Order: sequence, then C-alpha cells, then structure tokens
Amino acid sequence: MRLEVRGIVRRFGAVTALDGVDLAVAEGEFLTILGPSGSGKTTLLKSVAGFEIPDEGTVLLGGEDVTLAPPRRREVGMVFQNYALFPHMTVAGNVAFPLEMRRRPRPEIERRVAEALALVELGDYGGRLPRQLSGGQQQRVALARAIVFGPRLLLLDEPFGALDRKLREALQLEVRRLQRRLGLTTLFITHDQEEALIMSDRIAVMDRGRIEQVGPPAALYAHPANRFVADFLGESNLLEGEARDGAAVVPGFGAVPLPGAAGRVTLLLRPEAMRVGTEAETALLQGRGTVVETVFLGLSAKLRLRVEGGPEVLARVPLRPSSPPPAGEGETVPLGFSPEDLHVVPGG
Ligand code: ATP
Repeated sequence: MRLEVRGIVRRFGAVTALDGVDLAVAEGEFLTILGPSGSGKTTLLKSVAGFEIPDEGTVLLGGEDVTLAPPRRREVGMVFQNYALFPHMTVAGNVAFPLEMRRRPRPEIERRVAEALALVELGDYGGRLPRQLSGGQQQRVALARAIVFGPRLLLLDEPFGALDRKLREALQLEVRRLQRRLGLTTLFITHDQEEALIMSDRIAVMDRGRIEQVGPPAALYAHPANRFVADFLGESNLLEGEARDGAAVVPGFGAVPLPGAAGRVTLLLRPEAMRVGTEAETALLQGRGTVVETVFLGLSAKLRLRVEGGPEVLARVPLRPSSPPPAGEGETVPLGFSPEDLHVVPGG
C-alpha cells in the first residue's frame, strides 16, 4: 500500500527532529532512509507507525489520513534492532501474538504461523524459546511476527545492527527476497550506506531533520545533489576548482573543460575513477602524488595520496591475486582521471 508523508514537523523543546519532511513510498517499493545518528530517522519511522504524533503535517496510508490514528489501527508490521521477542513465549507463540490480538480463529492462526515460519525458513523451530536461537534466527522470528497478519506496510529500524557481517549480508538478501515476493511496501532505516546501496529501490538521504535527496542508489551515487550526499554515500574526492572561460582549474591536475561554469566549483571524483601508476599515463588529466597510506581490502587497495601542488585524494585500485599493489607508502606515482568521471556538486 502506498505511503505518503507530507510536511511533517516534530520538535522536542529546542530540537527540531523533523523539519518539514515530504516523502512518498510507492506500493511494493523498498525505500531506505539513510542518515547519520540524530538526523531524525527513528522519529520519522515512529510518526509513520503512530508512536509519535507530529506537530505539523500528515501521514497517509493507502490514501487514508492516519496522522492521529493509534498504532494498532494502522496495520503496520515492525522489526527493530533489539529483537524484542517475548522471552517466555515459544517461537510459534511469538509469531501467533499479532493474530491473537486480532482475535483470529485458532485454525487460521495455526495455518498463518506455519506459513510465516516457513517463509523465514524456521518451519521446525516453532516449539523453541527465543533464547534457544541465534541472533539471526531471532531476527527472522521478529520478521515472521511482523508479516504474519498481512500488514499494509513494513517498517524496519536497523534490524541487522546487532548481527555480525556475514549474517547481516545473508539476512539482507533474505529480507529483500521476501519483501519482493510479498510485494510489501517497506520503509527501512539504516545509517550504513553500503546496506542502503545493496537493499533499496530508492534511498532518501536525511540530515538534520530534512531529506536532502531521494532517488535510486546508482543515481544518488553518480549525481549527488549536494556536498552532504556526495560525502555520506560512498567515499569521495571533492576537488575544489576555479572556473573561467569554459574550464575549471583543479590544483595539481590542470584545467578541466567545464562549459558554462564560473567561479568556485566543487567536483566529485569517486576513488575508483582515480587512476594510479601506469594506468594514469593515458588519462586526460594528470598529476603526481605521494602515497601517505595504503589499506589492503582484499579485492582492492585504498590509497591516500598527497597530490603535488594539490589536495589529498583517495584512490581505489583493483587488485589481482598475483599482482602487488601499484605503489607503497612514501612512493611518488603518476595520477590521472578522465573529465567524464567528474560530477559538479551543486551548491559546492
Ligand atoms: P540514530 O541513528 O542515532 O537512532 P536518528 O536519525 O534515528 O538517530 P532520532 O532518534 O530520530 O535520530 O532523533 C532526532 C533528534 O531528535 C535527535 O537530536 C534526538 O536527540 C532528538 N529526539 C528524539 N526523540 C526525542 C525525545 N523523545 N525527546 C527529546 N529529544 C528527542
């Protein structure tokens, strides 16, 4: 079901947690709210769930105004970071709970609990207690409990935050498959940009109670609307240039063709677009840099370099198992990039 949030404002004393948020989530869409700690993500989710009443603005669910409706009337499924299962109830009892609250007949409850547990691949675990399950399994029970009653909307607040990396990655894919299969409109919260890029149909980047940009992951990565989004989503080199006569001078690299620009400009160059060593020799823009730091990342290495006559930059260099990194710390190497890989960051 479609979710729409219009002009939501929520203040706590002097703090404005939500400062006029507009957002629409299409039916069946997986939309992620991505933002740093304190940006207002949880307050937004709570306003949608009904645990916060906004000072201004409206929440529409399937076209119905639910701004003032109590949580239980909204028919929304939720999963939080801390599993929040009832510890004294079995897995099946936990999953049955929302149906019992709704006074569904016993045979229906049994059928739906079995279906939901099968969906999260815990069909044989109904008789266990939560403490007899791993963290990942507990989170799958929480997911089963959130979907068992056929919610109109699924809200996920950092559901993988407490899990180790491998488990988190497995569950990310599992949740996404399930969400697609059930066609569930989903609002997902995270401060982990990698998780947002992996999971989302669209990402809304939030900062200080405002949504800075909304769009598909690839579009936000390639064309961030401002410096905050460029910096928060992925790693970035923000090169400061001076534009005049259809070109911008980037210190350390020379003039980049930039029709129409004038004055100070900020240019985004992702670290994977920065060429290093022999690779750089055919690039249109060239400079030299001294390696300050090398971080080995398995499939690639991340280099921090001080550019001669320019700023510090990051380069992400792919590695093959047999080949050594292109440069060691303290070495000075050619650097280069192609002007097509630059993106002018609006509002610098
Ligand atoms: P995190 O990722 O750390 O959970 P968040 O993006 O979810 O952060 P919110 O929890 O929505 O951020 O908080 C937004 C702002 O509102 C913060 O400055 C927070 O301190 C403030 N805030 C949230 N709830 C309350 C409250 N009940 N009383 C007072 N201030 C609050």
